[in-house]
Amino acid sequence: MDGAEKQIGSAIGGNVTFNPLAAALPVDEPAIREALDCDIGEFVDAKAWIGGQRYEELIAQRVSIRERLYEKPRFRCSLCSVPVYLVANQLKHFFFRHITEDGSCPAETRSALSRDEILARKYDGVRESEPHKRIKALIVRSLSADPSFSEILSERQWRSSHDERSRRQPDVQAKGPLGRTAFEVQLSTTFLDVVAGRRSFYKQEGALLVWVMGNFDPEYRRLTTDDLLFTNNSNILVVDGETANLSEAECQFYVRCHFRRPMREGDRLTDRWESCVVPFSELTCEKEAQHCWYFDYDRQASALRAEIDKDLQERERAKLDALRSELFSFWLSRKPNTAPDENEVRSWTTLLGALSDHGISLPPSPDGDSGFIALMNGVASAKEGKPVGWNFKHLVEVAHRIADGYPQHVVAFGHAARLFKRDEMLAEQDRTGKWKRRSAAIGASLRKGQPDFAPDPVSILLVDFLMPGTKAKLEKITSVPSTHAPVA
Ligand SMILES: [Zn+2]
Repeated sequence: MDGAEKQIGSAIGGNVTFNPLAAALPVDEPAIREALDCDIGEFVDAKAWIGGQRYEELIAQRVSIRERLYEKPRFRCSLCSVPVYLVANQLKHFFFRHITEDGSCPAETRSALSRDEILARKYDGVRESEPHKRIKALIVRSLSADPSFSEILSERQWRSSHDERSRRQPDVQAKGPLGRTAFEVQLSTTFLDVVAGRRSFYKQEGALLVWVMGNFDPEYRRLTTDDLLFTNNSNILVVDGETANLSEAECQFYVRCHFRRPMREGDRLTDRWESCVVPFSELTCEKEAQHCWYFDYDRQASALRAEIDKDLQERERAKLDALRSELFSFWLSRKPNTAPDENEVRSWTTLLGALSDHGISLPPSPDGDSGFIALMNGVASAKEGKPVGWNFKHLVEVAHRIADGYPQHVVAFGHAARLFKRDEMLAEQDRTGKWKRRSAAIGASLRKGQPDFAPDPVSILLVDFLMPGTKAKLEKITSVPSTHAPVA
């Protein structure tokens, strides 16, 4: 007992006077821990609901709850759906009591229920709530107005065609253009397990289950609504007074559809909520997926995602193209066999950093690695159609130099000659036919899988950067996958 309770306790027998403006107090351990508020179709925690009101408010509510008890009960027990009313103990601590206590309610008898049993009982109880009854009636009204629906039944069993013992009781069922169709009202208290269980039942039946809400506000979504939303192509169907009136006026079943429209914001996908009132016959219904939607969010979103990806790739390609041009310009303007000056060092550092962002490594200095220099000289020479970096007169001399001193780059040079269409030039300059014989021998060696001219695996990413699309070809020859490209 806390201090306040002691104080009140001392007054037992006399009048327990309560400050009408103070918060009402629940009993510590109520038998009925949760009640269904039938006016809003939601479950309330008994202690939280009682304690959340001023004493004077609760007393006023208590009277109205009692008055409505037999006609249109405000609260029902969450476990047995029997109407309940508010009573107080002698300390004026409140709790809910069943209208009849015959010992059948698990809350009273304290019998243990499994989570599934509790969910099933609560779900059945929700059908007794006012919003549920109202939406159900609106669905029946809407369907009855449409001649393409017949055999409209409310709260009747649907027996499984496969299993006699398996059955469901949809809120509304009707025969329509898609065959027998079940309609379930989704209140905030419909649980994922129930949603999932029903989906599979009707799917097995080859029938469509359509979830309908009484209203929908995208800003105030609950997780249980999201369970429906994201399993239905981001569409939510609503039947309300306005759509029911329209259905009757047009003799056609209308629904209000809320959906997300995907939008592109820079390189990001966002969305905007929209809604429209459409004939039910215009919805896309997919029995296999148990989908029923108006706007194809999934398709449009994936189209936008593909567009964003394509743009990102194009931008990446453009960036690499620019970097490649920069690297070639640097190479053409550098003075061979001299240490780089301050400007060159700065440009090199910038290039090195930019390329490393794309996973391509350059040596720390442009003049420190003879293998790298030979590779760059070879590719740049083929590109320019004349020797670059070496004091030769003809491109064919470059070819021989690489074959002699840097056999690991001869394949890259060969690709460059082909890419920049220098094969004819090489043949013309090859007066003695020495290069022709040599390249034939290189080809034969490579075909035999000999290591003599196999490309250096660590240079493959750089070669692919210089000549996009060569990676796979080079890897096929080396048969060692390239993971990084430190040329230094
Ligand atoms: Zn009960």
